[in-house]
Amino acid sequence: MPEFRLYNSMTRTVEPFTPADGETVRMYACGPTVYNPAHLGNFRTFLFTDLLRRALSLAGYTVKQVMNLTDVDDKIIKRATDQKKMVRDVTEPVIDMFFADRDYLRIQPAEHYPRATDFIVEMVDLVRRLEKAGVAYQADDKTVYFAIDKFAGYGRLSRLDTRELKAGARVAQDDYAKENAQDFALWKAATPEDEACGAAWDSPWGRGRPGWHLECSAMAMSLLGETIDIHTGGVDLQFPHHEDEIAQSEAATGKPFARFWCHGEFLLTDGTKMAKRVGNVSTVEDLRAQRVSAAAVRHLMFSTHYRKQLNLSGAALEASIEAVRRVGDFAERLASATGGTAALAEAAEAFRVEFDAALRDDLNAPRAQAALFIFINHANAELDTRGSDMGSLAAAREAFARAVGVLDIVPEQQGVDASLEVWVEQQLAARKVARGRRDFAAADQIRKSLDEKGIVVEDTPQGARWKKVR
Ligand code: AMP
Ligand code: ZN
Repeated sequence: MPEFRLYNSMTRTVEPFTPADGETVRMYACGPTVYNPAHLGNFRTFLFTDLLRRALSLAGYTVKQVMNLTDVDDKIIKRATDQKKMVRDVTEPVIDMFFADRDYLRIQPAEHYPRATDFIVEMVDLVRRLEKAGVAYQADDKTVYFAIDKFAGYGRLSRLDTRELKAGARVAQDDYAKENAQDFALWKAATPEDEACGAAWDSPWGRGRPGWHLECSAMAMSLLGETIDIHTGGVDLQFPHHEDEIAQSEAATGKPFARFWCHGEFLLTDGTKMAKRVGNVSTVEDLRAQRVSAAAVRHLMFSTHYRKQLNLSGAALEASIEAVRRVGDFAERLASATGGTAALAEAAEAFRVEFDAALRDDLNAPRAQAALFIFINHANAELDTRGSDMGSLAAAREAFARAVGVLDIVPEQQGVDASLEVWVEQQLAARKVARGRRDFAAADQIRKSLDEKGIVVEDTPQGARWKKVR
């Protein structure tokens, strides 16, 4: 079995990955800021994390994943102020939507979804440690800042040139109470607006609220420990967000914060990054309205490697809808097949090996999906020969099941609910009896009632095959 290799943004190389304790992968994924429903760009990043999670499980590891919900920040406070609401009233419905969208896209739930507002004590504690370590200071504006000059490792992840930082600092210096324009807020002094919408807490530095970067450091370390295995997010988070998370965490603990930094590239529309402020976003709600299956969305997202930009287009989505239809047809055929051949077992084994190798090769989903379609072609040809070997059929079913267990790209129309399935089987049995009696009127009647429920029947030498098409 090849090693599990992952690109580490910190070292800029693909490295062998194993969790520090050899068993459990402690993984932190930056989650959504919950003031608007997440768009498909956000979900590309969350689907990349889902793929990583499932690939690690397939490789035999236990995954302990935390995804935060940023439920207090400037945008949320502005929304609450504009609508004369409390921040909670803005964020709660958006969090509900986020979970519904996550489930629609079949993203496996993380083990924890901490909300920033539930970790204020831990955040205050972290700022206290930083103050004690001499890297935090309270400025005249009452906000507590992190002094980046005091942390030697600052800029390592994003390869920032310190001279550039200094130059930027000189330009902007006058506008700020900060010692250095690049210093970032750990604890922001409360404004009357913050107080009015419930976004202010007591602290040793007066009323205030946490800075965004602080949230992630405090929650990651509280729930996963001071050194985590993998930290994920979109590429736009590398600087300043992840750089600042590293500074806060490592200045407090003296230990490396994350062993691997993994960043997913952007989803674009018409060549531009999908973003709320550009106004080019599509949401899961849009997909649902167009009856686009999650299987097709997942196929589309996995058809490009996570470190390459992906352009969302109608044509690409159409192609994915068609591709997963083939996967669905194959799933049905495999389920109803009555035997296989030696060549089918060989194809299954080759597929299994190639699929695992692809995922272990820095999560090469396009390669893994290509292997699946090659297997489907081989297997379809073998099933045409109507072999009778049950062992090879079982091998094919198993190889297929473990691959779709990771990709999860079988469209739901094949996942007909159990009661309907029982009913259809009964109807088909009755139809067979009617035909045996040469009662073709009764047989036609049964076919009609099946048709009304969107079930199409195909008669094959092995008997009737059916599928739900509407
Ligand atoms: P936000 O809710 O803005 O904090 O973003 C949540 C996650 O989505 C972060 O990991 C971002 O890096 C990621 N993200 C935002 N826009 C895109 C995009 N167009 N493509 C891929 N990921 C994105
Ligand atoms: Zn974060």
